[in-house]
Amino acid sequence: MSKTDFKTYYANPEFRKKHIAYMMERVPCPDCHFVTPRSNMTRHKRGRNHRNRMKQIENDKSKILEENLKLKAQIDRLKNHFDTLKDLLPREFESDEE
Ligand SMILES: [Zn+2]
Repeated sequence: MSKTDFKTYYANPEFRKKHIAYMMERVPCPDCHFVTPRSNMTRHKRGRNHRNRMKQIENDKSKILEENLKLKAQIDRLKNHFDTLKDLLPREFESDEE
């Protein structure tokens, strides 16, 4: 929509009402999920709140990755332990799988 089109539409009270309601609708930021009116989204994305929340998200992500790596290492240790125990068992206790 061109600028003049918008002006023409905006002169229409029905359109103006709908447009204002649309702009005032509170929506989540697609990046940090902070809920703010649509009319404030551009400002929000340039602001400190958004920056801090993005930093927090990055921190949480790396914590989760770290946690995942720890869990993987633990699972590997348990698998090795299990294999060692299995080797100690007499043959008749071995499962049919594998
Ligand atoms: Zn945000």
